[in-house]
Amino acid sequence: MRIEIVTIGNEVLSGRTFDTNFVYLARALEEASVVVGWHTTVGDNAELIGETLKLALSRADAVVMMGGLGPTPDDMTRKAVATALNRPLQLEESVLAHIRERGRRAGRKLPSSVETMALVPRGSEVWQNPVGAAPGILIDYRKKPVILLPGPPPEFEALAERHVVPWLRERSGTHVDSFTLRTFGLFESQLHERIGTLPDTWHGAALAYLPSWFGVDLRVTVTGANAALVRGTAERAYNELGERVQGVIYAEGTQTMEEAVRELLLERKWRIATAESCTGGLLAKRLTDLPGSSKCLERGYVTYSNASKQELLGVTSEDLAAHGAVSAAVAEHMARAARERAGVEVGVSITGIAGPDGGSEKKPVGTVFLAVSSPLGEAVRVHRFMGSRSTVRERAAQTALDMVRRHLAELPVDPTLY
Ligand code: ATP
Ligand code: MG
Repeated sequence: MRIEIVTIGNEVLSGRTFDTNFVYLARALEEASVVVGWHTTVGDNAELIGETLKLALSRADAVVMMGGLGPTPDDMTRKAVATALNRPLQLEESVLAHIRERGRRAGRKLPSSVETMALVPRGSEVWQNPVGAAPGILIDYRKKPVILLPGPPPEFEALAERHVVPWLRERSGTHVDSFTLRTFGLFESQLHERIGTLPDTWHGAALAYLPSWFGVDLRVTVTGANAALVRGTAERAYNELGERVQGVIYAEGTQTMEEAVRELLLERKWRIATAESCTGGLLAKRLTDLPGSSKCLERGYVTYSNASKQELLGVTSEDLAAHGAVSAAVAEHMARAARERAGVEVGVSITGIAGPDGGSEKKPVGTVFLAVSSPLGEAVRVHRFMGSRSTVRERAAQTALDMVRRHLAELPVDPTLY
């Protein structure tokens, strides 16, 4: 069974409202082994909504439409669907009672227009809305289910979770298994080179490369009619892919780089101190995003000016004069001083040129020095990050975290990695 999800609303079409309902439903359906074949967005236009539904019914086995079920004139989903399917609207007494009961409990007299939400296409089943008025509507159209859901996210999510996902899961003949390996250190093309073509034994598996400044996520989705075969293929793919990209995986699923670092610090019962220049505290911010971060982050220095590097970290004027603030010598000094002055085991530093100004022939914008210092030793690296000021900063913070991770995991230095 392949379903089509249709988002309705000018707000979404114009890009002003993020389609979080789609994100929510698509993720829940993937977990429930229901395959989404199409996703369409259409504006608040009755004719186009009708056309979209007919097109969806011509190709999908089930259609979920969301939005435009409210009581105002811009809400035309129910009417458009009734017309397109030739199922005139009828009053559904149970919904009317639900709406009146909600009005009574709220102690407010609502305009009679709210009662239009009790109108449903003939032959529908309804799922009562636990947090709002408009119900979820299920229409069986020539053996193809058409499901209508209200747009406000809390209402949408409550109905999706309680009714729609379980209902579709029961009827889907397909099983899905998926996993994500998060990599850092190789560009998409380099990863592809390492991975090569997918083996024939990965029957029904699809591999997606998902790049961002956090690295490249490798997401494998296996689909098939037989649950055990799907499971087996996913396991094989997991092992074989893991082998091919060994050394650059930093996490799985939705785990972040900072979580991976925290895990390694906790394992050793070590703490870290950060010394940042061009990232202005971004690295410390990421480490403190995690609950319980006080167990592993002791402090963060934000030393943006040369004076603060000297005052707070004891960087020498000789080093600044001889090498500049953006240099290996200063980065090394910052990491070591952060570690010593905070009295912890690990120091990490970032100093660089985020741009757009301040670059030179020898040190162009995007030049960033990173250093780590711990009882395991010291390391310093220089990077040249491309992109805007914010990209350079994000990449610098992520790369510094990866450097700490590799350092703590005692991974060998791999010159092919960026
Ligand atoms: P209402 O009774 O509030 O009018 P409705 O079912 O008619 O409900 P819409 O009018 O389409 O729903 O949307 C109501 C609000 O819900 C929007 O203003 C928007 O904030 C939010 N919303 C609608 N669709 C989505 C979506 N796909 N993703 C996230 N939010 C959405
Ligand atoms: Mg509305």
